[in-house]
Amino acid sequence: MHFSLACTACAWTGPDADIAQCPSCGGIIDVVYASAAVDVDAAQPGLFRWASRLPLHDPSTALSLGEGNTPLVRSHRLGDELRLSSLFFKLEGSNPTGSYKDRIAAVGVARLRELGKTAWAATSSGNAGAAIAAYGAQAGLDGYLFTLEKASRAKIAQILAYGPHVTAVERLGYDPDVEKLTWANIRRLCAERNWQMLVTARAFSPHAMEGVKTIAFEVCEQMNGVAPDVVYVPVGGGGLLSASWKGFVEAHAAGMIPTLPRMVAVQACGCDAITQAWQADRPVSPIPGCTSAISGIQLTAPPDGDLVLQALRESGGWCVSVPDAETYRAQADLAAKEGLFVEPAAAITVAALRADRAAGRLSGEERIACWLTGTGFKDATALQNMVAEKTVAMMRAEEIVMIDD
Ligand SMILES: [Zn+2]
Repeated sequence: MHFSLACTACAWTGPDADIAQCPSCGGIIDVVYASAAVDVDAAQPGLFRWASRLPLHDPSTALSLGEGNTPLVRSHRLGDELRLSSLFFKLEGSNPTGSYKDRIAAVGVARLRELGKTAWAATSSGNAGAAIAAYGAQAGLDGYLFTLEKASRAKIAQILAYGPHVTAVERLGYDPDVEKLTWANIRRLCAERNWQMLVTARAFSPHAMEGVKTIAFEVCEQMNGVAPDVVYVPVGGGGLLSASWKGFVEAHAAGMIPTLPRMVAVQACGCDAITQAWQADRPVSPIPGCTSAISGIQLTAPPDGDLVLQALRESGGWCVSVPDAETYRAQADLAAKEGLFVEPAAAITVAALRADRAAGRLSGEERIACWLTGTGFKDATALQNMVAEKTVAMMRAEEIVMIDD
């Protein structure tokens, strides 16, 4: 077999098994590969061309909706405005359901099918739910989604379209005890009924989260064999940053890139358990509540938080938190100045870039990449607010040639 399991917290190792926690200490499971090579199989669809780095026994049976291979676009105007010579955006909104979560869902549903599970159960504020529901629908699987008490209505609408059972959980997203109980009960439900738990965190779905690494592999290809110097990643639960870092480390070990990037964890000021831990130089502990409105990153008890701290230390990176107002400003800037229509949870990376530039943290000469994690259509409320001041005047067709310029 080309992969096995190890513990991120103790010395336990073992062959692949249907486990999500270390049997010895309860720590987070890591997938390790027998070979360091990152081989590309161009015949496979979507991100399965990276099957050599994915924990699947027979990737040829995996289903794809054409995920991955998203564009890396160079900034033309915001980079100039911020005096950054080399700024790039990874457009994860180009994935089939509009966010990077498709990379996790594609691998997670393939794993579910290999294990012979009969349904999936998940928690999600929206994007992961849509991704899992879409891949579940493609595979003809039943699904159960437990969502936040105040999840964005537009995100839920997209999920409902794919047909799973959707239930809102009281106080989920605002109370760390409810978060923990929700996860524990979904795990129990899945164990009792032979279902697969698909929560997009390495702490719960270590196999599925391997799909995230493909973002890093693609960027190394798109930058012609060099890594970015600095990567800005939105952080809620922390799995995206941690798994992206793992992808760069694997690419480096395979000789794809000569250097590694510094990773920057970006959080919202009203919900930043990881920034608080980083600044106090201590492990991540839950915060009592969330006052940020940036959907997708509202986690008071980040399951992969300590893996984020580890990635920041190993990469020489840092943490930055920004107010929601700066995130909405960045969202409007990306649309009006770059032609990039992204959701607030993606735009937060540009707000952080602006804050770091103002704080003198960057020289301006770095190759910088921002993970723009989801499309602007995801958050209809933020979209309405962004254009609330804009008016649409009415005129007669005869008047068109006289329009003011
Ligand atoms: Zn362990």
